Amino acid sequence: MDMHAPTDIYGLFAHEDDYPDLDAAAAVEHLSRALRCRTVSHVDVSLTDYAEFDRLHELIYASYPHLMAQATVETFGHSLLFTIPGTDEGLAPVQLMAHQDVVPVVAGTESDWTHDPFSGHVDEDFVWGRGALDIKEMLVGELEAVEYLLARGARPRRTILLAFGEDEECLQHGAKRIAAALASRGARLAFLIDEGDYVVTSGDAYGAPGTLFKQVQLGEKGYCDVRITARGAGGHSSQPFGGTSLGHVCEAVARIAGAPYPARLSPLTRMTLRALAPHVTQGALAGLLGDVDGNADEIARACLASPKLFPQVTTTIAPTMLDGGSQASNVMPHDVSAVVNFRLDPGTSSADVMARCRELTHDLPVEVDWFQDVEEPSPADAGVGAEANLGYRAITDAVARYLRDPATGAGLPVLPALATGSTDAHAYEGVCDACLRMCPMVTTAAESDRGVHGTDERVSVRAYLQGIRVFVRILEQTCL
Ligand SMILES: [Zn+2]
Repeated sequence: MDMHAPTDIYGLFAHEDDYPDLDAAAAVEHLSRALRCRTVSHVDVSLTDYAEFDRLHELIYASYPHLMAQATVETFGHSLLFTIPGTDEGLAPVQLMAHQDVVPVVAGTESDWTHDPFSGHVDEDFVWGRGALDIKEMLVGELEAVEYLLARGARPRRTILLAFGEDEECLQHGAKRIAAALASRGARLAFLIDEGDYVVTSGDAYGAPGTLFKQVQLGEKGYCDVRITARGAGGHSSQPFGGTSLGHVCEAVARIAGAPYPARLSPLTRMTLRALAPHVTQGALAGLLGDVDGNADEIARACLASPKLFPQVTTTIAPTMLDGGSQASNVMPHDVSAVVNFRLDPGTSSADVMARCRELTHDLPVEVDWFQDVEEPSPADAGVGAEANLGYRAITDAVARYLRDPATGAGLPVLPALATGSTDAHAYEGVCDACLRMCPMVTTAAESDRGVHGTDERVSVRAYLQGIRVFVRILEQTCL
């Protein structure tokens, strides 16, 4: 548990009186209605109820008249791309993102919810429902921000895109289709903002207790699952000549898990550490961050020894599935398989993982293949130069204005960081100068842990409105 992370988000908010003509009641109502659309996505798309996505689209088209008057709307399957053309074609577009889909409510937990997860229940303090944090509050909030500006006569100089994928939670095909369309048009985005951390984080894990940050994730780790299979024909266990299929799989898994990737500091992790450096006063990193490059090996070793930090400095290896053991202790197993999950550091490819696993097990009677589709990590140089990016600077400014340290009153700094999970933003890395993953609708760690993909997901009304202010300000500073 992050001891110093805020447990009360309201103390973080500043300048809630900005944009006093923001129609809070309408913004809340639009979010509530969006949460009533059961836009649950599935890997098996035959299970996805696309009529619910159509309902969400109709809701958007009906709720934002100024957007609809100025934007062109394109659909890619059920993914949406709005283009609000800027008056200066020489300026690279900006893209705001979120995904339309939500994860299902886990069967058997429906009655654990205080309010029906698809009721869009609103009370004094919260809007409740599946997707309230992940991530319809951001989708609707971005629409509110754009509509707010257009309704007041703003004529953006810079083209604004709104890109809403349909299947971020499972396939991420929608984002790939939109990104491919942008690439085919020769588009180059100045920056994009997509979902990221919902929380304000403290520097505890790094040895900077009491310092609060808003993370902006500039790259993400990759994902792949290696399957190891050994064939067996059963038979009596008193005759195990040559070993059993289970034994061979265990040997292969042990070799793979026992050969960790070396720790190293990627360029993005170095950016994280440099931003933290002035605040780190305790622990293994204190005294090392004054010269991140010079002390890189020592820092990497220190991070490797930290349960929270080690995923930041290496490709992680986690054996997860085992299938096919015998049902009787005196009978040899038939085919046995195991899956080892890898989270790839930027710069490490899935091809490298596969070659490594085959090399480590080449003398064993096992087959090695992919269990499912792989997701490559961000490029090795992800994040480099982002601090000078227009969008990054606008986020820095808006976060400092709207989120403050309750103890000091100072605006929160942003922290460039690596995301360990996968987002739709990844699909756009080839067409965008800076893929910025940051959700300005903040919640506490406890609310996030319980609600995101869990039970009683809800967003506080004040956090939602504050996030809209962040988007309005970012658009004002970058697009008008
Ligand atoms: Zn999400």
